[in-house]
Amino acid sequence: MSASNNHHLDTLLMHTGMAPFDPETGAAPVALPSVRTSTVRFRNLDALSRARATQLAGDRGVTYGRIGMQTHEALESVVCALESAQRCFLAPSGLSAMTLSVMALLGAGEHMLVSDSVYGPMRYLDKTVLRRMNISVSYARATVADLEPLVRPETRVLYVESPGSLLFEMLDIPALAEFARARGLLLVVDNTWGSGYLYRPLELGAHVSIIAGTKYIGGHSDLMLGAVAANEPAVIEALNTTHYAMGYSISADDAWLALRGVRTLPIRVRQHAQNALQVCQYLAGCHEVVQIFHPAWPDDRGHALWQRDCHGSNGMLAVELKLDPEQAVRFVDALTLFGIGFSWGGYESLVQLIEPGALAVHSYWQKTANAMVRLHIGLENPADLIADIEQALAVARG
Ligand SMILES: *Cc1c(COP(=O)(O)O)cnc(C)c1O
Repeated sequence: MSASNNHHLDTLLMHTGMAPFDPETGAAPVALPSVRTSTVRFRNLDALSRARATQLAGDRGVTYGRIGMQTHEALESVVCALESAQRCFLAPSGLSAMTLSVMALLGAGEHMLVSDSVYGPMRYLDKTVLRRMNISVSYARATVADLEPLVRPETRVLYVESPGSLLFEMLDIPALAEFARARGLLLVVDNTWGSGYLYRPLELGAHVSIIAGTKYIGGHSDLMLGAVAANEPAVIEALNTTHYAMGYSISADDAWLALRGVRTLPIRVRQHAQNALQVCQYLAGCHEVVQIFHPAWPDDRGHALWQRDCHGSNGMLAVELKLDPEQAVRFVDALTLFGIGFSWGGYESLVQLIEPGALAVHSYWQKTANAMVRLHIGLENPADLIADIEQALAVARG
């Protein structure tokens, strides 16, 4: 019994990567164990040669622990199901999945275009490492009209994130993919928001999709993980070579945690999305609220693109509040159910007071002195979250 590709994604996510039956007992554990090993032993030299040959052919041949055995392989196949990808490469964090892509696809003297709403640490990677390696980066609003004049003969990669970090700016991925392909660029999409379940960039024409599994795949705020998915043989080969050469590897225990988390991804994400919409509904009636940033919210500027390209939404939203800086601090500090912290995708609600400096580089942001607050709406009862926001707004008013 195995899942076929005809099934719905929810079904595939429950059945992909199951442990095979033991040929003698005809039994198998439902939950695949964490196969922890630092190396692999072979029955004879012929078996080792076959594994090596598989590896040299670019397929998944295991000759050493760093490559990972059954637990890793199961997680890779689940990510492939999520992203409709042929191959997936695991990395120890979302950021390292980003560095894997950049290192695999760019060389010295080459140039990358990056959407200006990108996850902030990309700019740090650029300043500290890429520049030193003579890889140059230009940031721009990610529309074809804005990117077109910035393409140089040495441009190789268009790297975007959709929806963008902080304000969830929806990008037109099919249009960007067409543009990239016409100009001979590789389109890399950070798909952490969609995590494959809500958004599938490879189906929309991208060459590479990246997920920080730390967020909704793990789902329990107890894991750091990254994944890079691709379909085209030349891209897969570049990723495979660099992944191996640079020693990217995750522990079997982390692969196991990710597998446990991902089985409940559909039901968790649906609930996060439902709770977030209820919070949006409340916010829309608040005196202090100027604008809500959440692509599933009908007034969001990206709502039409979201309806066209996404399969659902999640718990992330940002809100512009008519509060001065002191009131904004009082508001955030007064929240009791929202932890003050970065990241998201776990069961719990989080709040981040967005620094104006972080938004100054986003062309999507219309400069304002109002407070910008990002919320991750968790799996608490939304009535309690709303009551918490209500009392914190009262404290902010003073
Ligand atoms: C969190 C995040 C990352 C980085 O993931 P880590 O596992 O924290 O390194 C990358 N991209 C986006 C959009 C993220 O939200």
